[in-house]
Amino acid sequence: MSLQLSDIAKSITPSATLGLNATVALLKAQGEDVISLGVGEPDFDTPVHIRRAAKEAIDAGKTRYTDVKGIPELRQAIADHIFAHKSLRYSPDEIIVSSGAKQAIVLALQSVLNPGDEVILPSPYWISYTEMIKIAGGKPVIITTDPETDFLPTPAQLAEAVSERTKAIIINSPNNPTGTIWPRELLAAACELARKHDFFIISDEIYEDLCYDGYTQLSPAQISDDAKQRTILVSGFSKAYAMTGWRMGYASGPLFAIKAMGSIQSHMTGNPNSITQYAALTALTAPQDCVVDMAHSFARRRTLLLFLLAQNALRPGVMPKGAFYMLLDVRPYIGKKCDGEVIEDDGKFAEMLLKKVFVAVIPGTPFGAKGFVRLSYAVNDIQISEAVRRIKNFVTGLE
Ligand code: PLP
Repeated sequence: MSLQLSDIAKSITPSATLGLNATVALLKAQGEDVISLGVGEPDFDTPVHIRRAAKEAIDAGKTRYTDVKGIPELRQAIADHIFAHKSLRYSPDEIIVSSGAKQAIVLALQSVLNPGDEVILPSPYWISYTEMIKIAGGKPVIITTDPETDFLPTPAQLAEAVSERTKAIIINSPNNPTGTIWPRELLAAACELARKHDFFIISDEIYEDLCYDGYTQLSPAQISDDAKQRTILVSGFSKAYAMTGWRMGYASGPLFAIKAMGSIQSHMTGNPNSITQYAALTALTAPQDCVVDMAHSFARRRTLLLFLLAQNALRPGVMPKGAFYMLLDVRPYIGKKCDGEVIEDDGKFAEMLLKKVFVAVIPGTPFGAKGFVRLSYAVNDIQISEAVRRIKNFVTGLE
């Protein structure tokens, strides 16, 4: 037999973060005391009132197909939410609800890309973007950045990345994995390039509610009317409302693009889960104390992690201003040996760290952050302290 998979399927790398979760689960099942700083999800339970809304939705029979783009009352609530937070006016028709921000981003890419179209992707970037671009037939054009510029591209680098084939740029602020937030001037530079060369902006704002030290998140759609007309703004419920498993995200943007996303979704999954939609409606319309409380916890944990790293002479890649991740600089340990094995890169560092001291972190290379590993502080204070202690012991033992 000579059955062949498609070229696209063969080109896709499975998610390293989800792969790590499986390894951690296996080690835990074997009784090992693993601390995972690899997780990309809040450790909090979904707030009680949101869970209750889901149960009520089931009992009320809200279990049938819905409008493909989501129930109108949820799209209205999302429109109100965006207006309250960003003063951006969208009609419910300019909003689509999807099975997670992940699906919304794939739909956005599938709606705008033709085969071979280029998407500008400043690194470090969320692991899934490169694969999502490939799934949609596009080509990622990666901009390499470094800690000296806060892992942000310069306006000149953005301009250099533009070609005849540029169809979109992906902006993710606050960023996974660095925690950096794009300043207004940089957003404005990106928006001006998009205007000049007429391409889309896909803005992944999933961490918008998690900003620290007085920093705030700004959407490119807030920069100008032109920018709003070419931005597909993506966000969701996973991070702010601790609803990762519920699979609920959304996009807002120009009507023609949102319509196209709806058409694709109609054949792909149909509507997102009906029960989850009612839970999401409650999440948005109930008091927002749970979001504020969780954001405070992340802020406190970030301060604790930064303090402990500094105390142990461990270096973050860059000062994180949002999300719940930070990079740890492991370049000083590359080339050293652990039990005779050479730490040749960040991947080997992460592998040996898990093997020797049972701390799970994600290698930076798949994020475009070679020489760094990503730490998530969506874990409790005791785990943060113990993880830093173990990392310190591990690096001290390297020869
Ligand atoms: N965008 C970024 C930058 C993320 O880090 C993640 C999840 O880790 C997502 C999107 C996916 O969110 P969702 O759970 O809503 O699909």
